[in-house]
Amino acid sequence: MQTIAETSRPLAVSFDNSYAHLPERFYARLDPTPAAQPRLIKFNSALAAELGLDVSGVSADTLAQLFSGNLRLQGAEPLAMAYAGHQFGHFVPKLGDGRAILLGEVRDVAGVRRDIQLKGSGRTPYSRDGDGRAAAGPVLREYVVSEAMHALGVPTTRALAIVATGESVYRERRLPGAILTRVSASHVRVGTFQYFAARGDVEAIKQLADFVIDRHYPDIREAEAPYLALFRAVAQRQARLIACWMHVGFIHGVMNTDNTAISGETIDFGPCAFMDAYDPAAVFSSIDTAGRYAYANQPHIAHWNLARFAETLLPLLNPILERAIELANEALSAFWPRFEQHWLSGMRRKLGLFTAEDEDPQIVRGLLEAMHRQQADFTLTFRKLCDAAEGQQFDAGVRALFANAAAYDEWAAMWRSRLARESLPPGVRADSMRHANPAFIPRNHRLEQAIQAAVELEDFTLFADLLQVLSRPYEDQKGFEVYATAPQASERVLQTFCGT
Ligand code: AMP
Ligand code: MG
Repeated sequence: MQTIAETSRPLAVSFDNSYAHLPERFYARLDPTPAAQPRLIKFNSALAAELGLDVSGVSADTLAQLFSGNLRLQGAEPLAMAYAGHQFGHFVPKLGDGRAILLGEVRDVAGVRRDIQLKGSGRTPYSRDGDGRAAAGPVLREYVVSEAMHALGVPTTRALAIVATGESVYRERRLPGAILTRVSASHVRVGTFQYFAARGDVEAIKQLADFVIDRHYPDIREAEAPYLALFRAVAQRQARLIACWMHVGFIHGVMNTDNTAISGETIDFGPCAFMDAYDPAAVFSSIDTAGRYAYANQPHIAHWNLARFAETLLPLLNPILERAIELANEALSAFWPRFEQHWLSGMRRKLGLFTAEDEDPQIVRGLLEAMHRQQADFTLTFRKLCDAAEGQQFDAGVRALFANAAAYDEWAAMWRSRLARESLPPGVRADSMRHANPAFIPRNHRLEQAIQAAVELEDFTLFADLLQVLSRPYEDQKGFEVYATAPQASERVLQTFCGT
């Protein structure tokens, strides 16, 4: 690999790497495989600014060279991380970054350490039979959905750049290849702990736990039982994350333990999707035939994944196994009340409730059941409910979403008598609801259209529109109404693919 040739100003990145200084058995050091003809497709200038990267005067060509891995950024210490993971419930002791390379870590403008990783950057010692590459479609999808999640207020990894490689990848057919630059709080997963647990390497587990505490949970450093406190903190962040997903109708699709970030960010946008019509059993992923990762199952799976995480920490919790298990179970049991609390408070905000009453869960469930029976669109129902909060005369929008509007009327009567117990000007309530109920989500059919136009016709207009509209999901945006509507029957996307 060469160092930067001067066709434009070089990009200075002040790396401050920490993972690369963990013991050698945590990763494999290697450079990305050069791409044939890197071309910059998209660069996230706002995120670059947040990371403290000054790209003014840096040419698109230089950025393409850097974010394909063809040129090495000064201070980068490229490596592929080792990890294991339960995939659809089955344990695989060795996975690792098979097509991703961590370039290094930077401190963002808030002083927070962030990973910069290339995804699709070539084979690594963890590639198994894979080609180490990514197809442009899934890369565009991850870019749009992760940035949309961020704008929605859901903890997530971010997308910094897309570079077309100029090479083809072969999935079921020949597809153009691309590389995504992903930014995360860190890429440590439950599966990273499992990798060392599977090898009985308690020393490594302790080093990894200390690394994670330093990086993500510094308050815990002084705790009396730091590793138990670490587990509790991770469980709390997972509880909050999954509640956020439930509030926006997001289905991750592959909640394997290797796709569960210890930082509590959403990671790995493969066959993920947002629901249109509300259905708790909704599954989109073509490989999830048993519905393991269905919408309503997500909190249960998060709990299951946390149990797997707890198992890796047992040797650090107590020298007596029975006692360690007891402590872990006790801590794990806090997940459900924590999840319920996040879920309910978010649902209260969605329904415009400012106070808490015992019957609130019943009101929420009443609406969800009616939506399910009447095939009402998840996002639109809550968005139109903001109008309805201004008065019954504005009910038409919600009513139109229910196959049988009487089901809504019946529920709305209960909702309104609950609202009447709070004294709040209707306009104020409606406005606050508009900050909890997005008008825009990455609708699957729009996403597919945008990806198709970009990949097959090199037309990025829809992709750009989608990114723009999704950057302000809680605001009505004139001229972009089509991005808010539910798909026609003929437009509905029923399956999504990993595309790996
Ligand atoms: P994912 O389903 O993307 O979370 O990936 C699961 C595992 O498969 C990880 O270890 C990935 O690095 C690996 N993997 C996925 N796609 C590829 C590919 N095209 N080449 C090599 N490894 C891959
Ligand atoms: Mg993964």
